[in-house]
Parts: sequence; structure tokens; C-alpha cells
Amino acid sequence: MRFQPVIGLEVHVQLKTASKIFCGCSTAFGSEPNSQTCPVCLGLPGALPVLNKQVVEFAIQAGLATNCSITPRSVFARKNYFYPDLPKGYQISQFEDPICQHGWLDIQVEGQESKRIGITRIHMEEDAGKLVHGDVSGLEEGSGVDLNRACTPLLEVVSEPDLRSSDEAVSYLKQLHQIVTWLGICDGNMEEGSFRCDANVSVMPVGSETLGTRAEIKNVNSFKFVKQAIEYEIRRQIELIEDGATVVQETRLFDPTSGTTRSMRSKEEAHDYRYFPDPDLVPLVIDDAWVQRTRDELPELPEQRMQRFMTEWDLSAYDAEVLTASRSLAEYFEACVALHVNAKAVSNWMMGEITRALNDSGTSIDCCPVTPRLLVELLKLIEGGTISGKIAKTVFEAMWQSGKEPATIVQEQGLVQVSDSGAIEAIIDEILTREAGQVAEFRSGKDKLFGFFVGQVMKASKGKANPAVVNELLLSKLKG
Ligand SMILES: [Zn+2]
Repeated sequence: MRFQPVIGLEVHVQLKTASKIFCGCSTAFGSEPNSQTCPVCLGLPGALPVLNKQVVEFAIQAGLATNCSITPRSVFARKNYFYPDLPKGYQISQFEDPICQHGWLDIQVEGQESKRIGITRIHMEEDAGKLVHGDVSGLEEGSGVDLNRACTPLLEVVSEPDLRSSDEAVSYLKQLHQIVTWLGICDGNMEEGSFRCDANVSVMPVGSETLGTRAEIKNVNSFKFVKQAIEYEIRRQIELIEDGATVVQETRLFDPTSGTTRSMRSKEEAHDYRYFPDPDLVPLVIDDAWVQRTRDELPELPEQRMQRFMTEWDLSAYDAEVLTASRSLAEYFEACVALHVNAKAVSNWMMGEITRALNDSGTSIDCCPVTPRLLVELLKLIEGGTISGKIAKTVFEAMWQSGKEPATIVQEQGLVQVSDSGAIEAIIDEILTREAGQVAEFRSGKDKLFGFFVGQVMKASKGKANPAVVNELLLSKLKG
């Protein structure tokens, strides 16, 4: 029997607000435990939550960018459960009327047609605190509770079970990650847990209409792990069924070292949480004007920008996609082309030298020492024939290190390209005399040697001879 995997993702997106969702405490990461707390986020009796307007604004942005409709009157609910990192005994979340509903994203998996993945809902909620174990933060032994993270604003983005493979799941996740970081509502840092995902995985026989029993894999925090966890889980469930056993509905944990998932607890149903509307928070009413204003202020999104780069600057789909991988990258590109240079040359340099240098140094494009203006100055030197493309790479390295103007570097290091045919001719004559044997071979039909002569001339000129002039002169001298 062949099986069809069915996957749905629940993604937790930590919002980049300065303060928490229901109090004024800071959301900064990595502070002294419990230093960013107050009666509200500590869950002290009688303390009342006040909704952070920025959270609502970000939620509307996320909803509009993922084609959701915005719920005019949404409600906060209490999700009741006990855990030491949750002092109130409930998490404030949304249940029946989430802020965003019925959205979608079109994903692209290599070699397949684009596919639409439904987004069931996006709701706002608060994060819990965390437990700290062992000899850390002044704790000599045992465990402690750090409530700095309690009440940090989250969006939970729930997809329809429309995904059919680990590749589709990763593609969906990457697109969602790109959108929330593009909007600037989430820092996207997966290691710190700012963007993490639970995967619901089940399998059913191909052709069946009935969904299999699903397992939920909790808190997977890298694209690679999501792929591994889903693939392992699909194999595990198929083997179970083929062995005549049944899949149990449960919550499982992914272990990155072994690449496997293991049972954590039996999966609770929504009714286990006894959701009910939070009496401390009034229903949230969002009028059309608010939605319209947010829609008007929404930045041009990655997909639209990619299409525009292709039509406006005649870039290939591949180039346009790479250059819109992040908003900063796209803005760097536009800052360059606004200075009137060849868009294709900008694109080539960004995808070549700049990407390489950023990767090597672990720098992001926001901190790129070669600013758009400097890159454009460099390209102008190449286009004007002052330096060759090869020398430009040397100049680029020096710019990266020193931040100096490319023209200054060319001056200081004597890198000006030699286009003077007299000077180049002298070098060529010397080489042709020296390599008389090779010249004879070339003239007797060994055309491949041409590259050898070009190489010798470039070497003798320390890379500064204008390649076009070298080619032309060499050819006329060798043929003559
Ligand atoms: Zn607080």
C-alpha cells in the first residue's frame, strides 16, 4: 500500500514590540531572570491586563500579508492548564474569534507547480515563562522559574492540513518567515525561538478521503529540523501501520542529535483546556478604517517586489528571487540602481562578491561596509575602463577592509588599467619573442594556445592590461 502524508503547521511568531502584550515590561532577550516582570505578567491576583495596541497593529499586518480577512470583533480567551512557568494557571489566547481568518500563501517547490496553502487562522496570545535547571543564574541546584518571557506577544499562524511533503512544509515555512521579517514584525531568530513551529503529521492510504490519526511534533526551531522531523515521523507512522499497529494521537518531541521524534504526552483536545472568554479583557473591535489604513501602509511584499524587479530591471526570475530574499537585500539593490548603473551588473556583484563577503564574515547586508554608493563607484570605474573586472575584485576586497573610496584605492595601489596600445604592444612583443616555439605552434594551427598568450600578457602587466586591447593586439600580431 502506498501512503500520502498530510501535514499542517502551527507557527509561533514572536512579535518585535518593545513591551509585552498586556503590560509595560520590556521584551528584551537575555536579561537577568525575573528582572522584566510586574504584577500583571507575574500573574498576581487582582492585576489587570491592558492590551498593547502595537500587537494588534502587527497582527493586522500579518493577516493582510497572508491574504486573511480581519475579524471586526475578536475575543481573548483563557486557555486553562497547569505548568510551573504559567503562574496564572491559564494563558491568554484567542479561541472562537481569532483576529485573522481564511488566508492563504502560494508556495513553490522545485520542479512543481505553485500550490495554494490555506491559513485557517492567526491569533494573538501571550507566551509563558521558562524553567531554568541546574547551576545557572545564581541558582545552585534544582530548578527556577524565569518569567521575563511571560506575556511576550506571539502570533500563532495555523495552516490548513494542505501540505503533502516535508519540502512543501519547508517552503511554506520559509515564505512565512520571509513575510514576517519583511514586515519587520518579528526578528525571525529561530535559535532564540522567535519563530518556531509545531508540525501536525498523519498519513493515509493514497486515494483515501479519511485523514489518519495525527501526531504533533512540538517546537521545532530550524528549517532543517522541520524537514528531518516530518520525514522521520512519516516513516515511523507508515511502519507502524504496515506492522499492523495503530498511530496514537500524541504530542512528540524532536531530538536533533538522533533525528528522531519521541513521545512526550498524549495529545490534549481543545475541550481539555476549558476555553472561555477572558472577563478581564473587552472584545477587540477593529473598524474598516483601521484595516484600510494598515493596508495602505503595508510595504510592497516580497512576491510583488520580485515581479517588479523582473519587469522593471529585466532580471531573471532566479536573480529577482535571490535579491528579494530579504527586504534589506532588495533595498540595497534599489539604492544601487537609483544611482543609474547597469542593473544586471549590480545584480551580479550582489550575488557574487557581496554575498560571498557577507557569508565569509558573518555580516548581514544591513551592516555591509561596502555601501550602495561605494559599489556603484566601483562599477563606474569598470564601465569607464579605468580598471578591469578582475582588478575590481582586488579593489572590492580593499574597500571591504578599509571603507575607502574605490578611486582612492586604485590611485594608492596603482591599479589603473593600461589601455595604451603602445605599452601593451611592448609587453606582447617581449612575450612573443620569448615564446617563439609556442608562436610557431599557434601559427601551425594550435588555436588553443591563444589563451596561453593572453594569460602571459595579463601576468606581465600584473592584471592591469585592458583585456579587450590585449585580445585585439595579440590576434593581429599572431596572425600577421
Ligand atoms: Zn509585566
